[in-house]
This record gives sequence, structure tokens and C-alpha cells, in this order.
Amino acid sequence: MPRAGIVTVVGKPNVGKSTLLNRIVGQKLSITSPKPQSTRDRIVGIHSTADSQMVILDTPGLLNPRYKLQESMRGTAVRALDEADVIVYLADAREGEPPSLAKAADLEKAPRAPVILALNKVDSLPAPRRDQLASIENAALISALTGEGIPELMERIAQHLPESPFLYPEDEISTQPVRFFVAELVRETVLEQLHDEVPYSVAVQVEEYREGRSPLYIRAVIYVERDTQKAIIIGSKGAQIRSLGEAARKKIENLVQEKVYLDLWVKVLANWRKNPGSLSRFGYQPATGNSK
Ligand code: GDP
Ligand code: MG
Repeated sequence: MPRAGIVTVVGKPNVGKSTLLNRIVGQKLSITSPKPQSTRDRIVGIHSTADSQMVILDTPGLLNPRYKLQESMRGTAVRALDEADVIVYLADAREGEPPSLAKAADLEKAPRAPVILALNKVDSLPAPRRDQLASIENAALISALTGEGIPELMERIAQHLPESPFLYPEDEISTQPVRFFVAELVRETVLEQLHDEVPYSVAVQVEEYREGRSPLYIRAVIYVERDTQKAIIIGSKGAQIRSLGEAARKKIENLVQEKVYLDLWVKVLANWRKNPGSLSRFGYQPATGNSK
């Protein structure tokens, strides 16, 4: 009997969850950014070998709810814990041993699934610090960036998966539609090119995706909260949005492996981050689940 199940990767923002997912799945699915909190959506990647299949959830960081978007992110992360067959609790090795997952996530009870503690970014630690961490019981020392320790981690995950037929066809990398990744790539580009207040006010929606003609026509809308932000994104004489469009188009072409015409728009949706209707429109679920 093969093994198959759901693997939830969880940890604070910026510890390397998206990087780990990309490394495991072997293709760039979840966006990575040096800025924290860049992953707002739950992304499913799938890794299949001859006899095992991991369906991987990349959760947004477990945060204290400060405003509605963060509550929504937290609810998604907590639900992903409930669904898991195996939990990979990722932490930054440079910060030493983290508190237990239940404590860090402020859960009422320990999760049902086995938790594998993985200490990431060991590539940036001097040898003596690594040796200290190696004494933490059951901790996997890894570098999502260089790949160090990843095969061993995958082996441990596979051992914890329940016996089950595969959950998805073997060659499927992700259950998320391409449109979703296109929107993520546009948002990633905004995070890269713009700084300060703007990035966290940005949501991206692909409103049209017309296949069957070359180039592939994609119309995407960048939503911001204020007119001033719209002006920043457009830039002087449209220079900024042209630059965003060009960089995002290259990434999308790389993803879909064909020529793309990216038609990029900017719209203001006042205070969307505080509005439950807008949150669900962009795919953020309301906060519920195993949280206090
Ligand atoms: P997430 O917020 O947990 O999804 O974190 P990301 O995957 O977006 O990574 C946050 C930052 O940490 C990025 O700049 C990554 O390049 C960096 N990073 C991730 N994994 C490693 C690692 O193993 N070593 C080092 N040195 N940096 C890493
Ligand atoms: Mg991430």
C-alpha cells in the first residue's frame, strides 16, 4: 500500500515556509520575499514519489490578530493544522529552539498530527552553533535555500504519512489554478519593486485569462486602498506600472511557458483589508477553528 497524506508547513512569517515548499515541489509555486507576511493564501503543492504522495499546505504565518486580514490569515493557518496528517513546524535556526507549536500558535490543545520540528537556515550558522542545535531532540536541521537536510526531512515526513492510495494524479504539481499563481506573481513583483506602506495594501485579481491565441492574453487588476497608493503604482507618466508589468510578464511567461500579453490595471477599493466582503472576494476566509 502506498502512503499519502496532508503535510502542513507552519511557522512564523519569514522562517522560509515558501522556500521549503518550492524546494520540495521543485517548482516555484509559493511566492518568497524578504519581507514578512507575503504569503496570504494557502497554497497546495504536491510531491509524489513511487510509493508516497505529500499534499503540502503552505500556511500564512501564525500571527496575533491585529486587523481583519491577519485574523483571516490566522484562521486559515489554524484550519490547516486541523487537517494535517503531518505537521512540519518550521523555525529559524538562528533564533535557537522555539517554543512548542501549541504555545507558539496559542492553541487550546496540542495538534492531533505528529509534529516534526525543522530548524531552517542552518547554512547561515557557524559550526559550533549548529552542533548546539543538533542536540535538540528530534529536530531536523535544514536549509531550504541550499537543500541541505531536505532528503532526510522528506524521508521522515513520508514515514509519518498514513497508508492510503494517492490523493491526486501523480503528475499534478498543484491543485491551484494557474490564474492564482499569475496573481501571486504580480503581487510578488509589487512587493519587490515597491516599499513602505503600499505592498500590504495590495491584492491582485486576474479578471481575464484568454487561452488559445498567441500571445496569451491576461488582464490583471492591482487593488489598493487609497488614491495615493494608486498614483504610486502608476508612477510618473506610467513608468512604475510599465516596469511592474514587464517584470511580472517575464515571470508569468516562465510559468506558463508561452508568450504573454499582460494587461495590468490599478483600482482603488477603499479599506479592503478591513472589509469582510472584500476579504472573501480575494479568497481570504473568515477566522474560525482551533484558536482561542
Ligand atoms: P515564509 O514567510 O516563511 O514563507 O518565508 P520565505 O520562504 O518567503 O523566506 C523568507 C526569507 O528567508 C527569504 O529571503 C528567503 O530567501 C530566506 N530563506 C528561506 N530559507 C532560507 C535558508 O535555508 N537559508 C537562508 N540563508 N535564507 C533562507
Ligand atoms: Mg511565505
